[in-house]
Amino acid sequence: MIGTKPTRLNNKLWTKKILYIYWLMVIIAFLGQTIGLVVTIYFYPDNITSFTIYKLIIPSSIQVGSLLITHYVIHHKQVYSSKLLMISGTLAALVTIVSHPNVPGLQLLFLLAMAVSLIYFDKRKLRFSLIVNLIALSSIYALPSIREAGTIYSYFSYHIVLWAGYVAYLLILERGNEVFQFLQRAAEKEKELIVKSAMMERLSKVDALTGHYNHKTFHEYLDFLHEQSISQGMPLQLALVDIDNFKQINDSYGHTKGDLVLKRVATAIAEQVTEDDIVARYGGEEFAVLLTNKSLEEAYETIESLRLYIANQYHEELNENITVSVGLKGLTSDMSKETFFQQADELLYKAKRNGKNQVMYDNEDQPLAIQIKEPT
Ligand code: GH3
Ligand code: MG
Ligand code: MG
Repeated sequence: MIGTKPTRLNNKLWTKKILYIYWLMVIIAFLGQTIGLVVTIYFYPDNITSFTIYKLIIPSSIQVGSLLITHYVIHHKQVYSSKLLMISGTLAALVTIVSHPNVPGLQLLFLLAMAVSLIYFDKRKLRFSLIVNLIALSSIYALPSIREAGTIYSYFSYHIVLWAGYVAYLLILERGNEVFQFLQRAAEKEKELIVKSAMMERLSKVDALTGHYNHKTFHEYLDFLHEQSISQGMPLQLALVDIDNFKQINDSYGHTKGDLVLKRVATAIAEQVTEDDIVARYGGEEFAVLLTNKSLEEAYETIESLRLYIANQYHEELNENITVSVGLKGLTSDMSKETFFQQADELLYKAKRNGKNQVMYDNEDQPLAIQIKEPT
């Protein structure tokens, strides 16, 4: 048996809905009794008064009265009591049965009253409804009119039918819970998949060692920003940052220490550039920075202070400092993105050839990289 039940169902809304259905049933019952009155007028004119009092006015008044109380408690006192609602439904059935003792089978209305509890998908509520309806069924046999109309067999039969109904309803609830759990598991799986795919998407964009964007993502940004900058006339600069003599560092201290240094340089780059800039690990010990919202001079200042920052950083595991060389290129309107990148790369090689530890930018006649300071 499945023990758990749905955790959040809108019971308030359904309590109100059931109440309106009760009202509808009382109105239908009243109309039915009115038709009965018309029949009585035609065929049993002697019974008009007793029919009007005992079959129309008294039962309808009790039903309307009990529903008014329930309505008041639910709507005005805001007490969304399922028990009150179930008792109210059973009472309405009881009044109908008692006022028509000669209509056979009306006792099955208790089965209908019990069905209402199914809406809550709660076995305890169903059990409560069974008890209430069993009490109501037993108690109507205290009335001579009911006893006289039926037999001892019908008394037991209705009880058995009520129990059988309870078992059938119980199965419906179990099946409902099974379906609910299945849906819940499917929803959880879907949530897991969404989280996983978001993680995968992020992983496919970044480099595992440094956490910066990877080569592929860099090119996506380059495509996008190149297009935007050309069409909107916005400044865009590209800096290619390459660690100097890194092979030697690896050879002397090993790859593990090399990795630590690489990560530290990556962090330094992220810290030194501004929020408008995009940093990517372009290759092994090579980073690319796309600088937006800056003139070439401003970009140079940012990159030059980055170079100095790195050059002044002491690496305990190497017992020395390391340096970087940078090629910095400003985009011009006639430049394709391939040319843009290629020219930044050429400037980087120029910086290497010129002695490393410097920023070389796009005016060959004025290599601002000459203004470098030696690490302290
Ligand atoms: P240059 O100053 O001309 O740039 O010299 P270099 O030694 O830095 O350049 P080269 O291209 O000869 O060597 C790059 C080295 O970077 C080789 C490779 O072992 C190392 N490298 C690349 N990726 C990684 C990495 O993820 N971890 C470590 N530890 N080393 C890496
Ligand atoms: Mg290098
Ligand atoms: Mg390199």
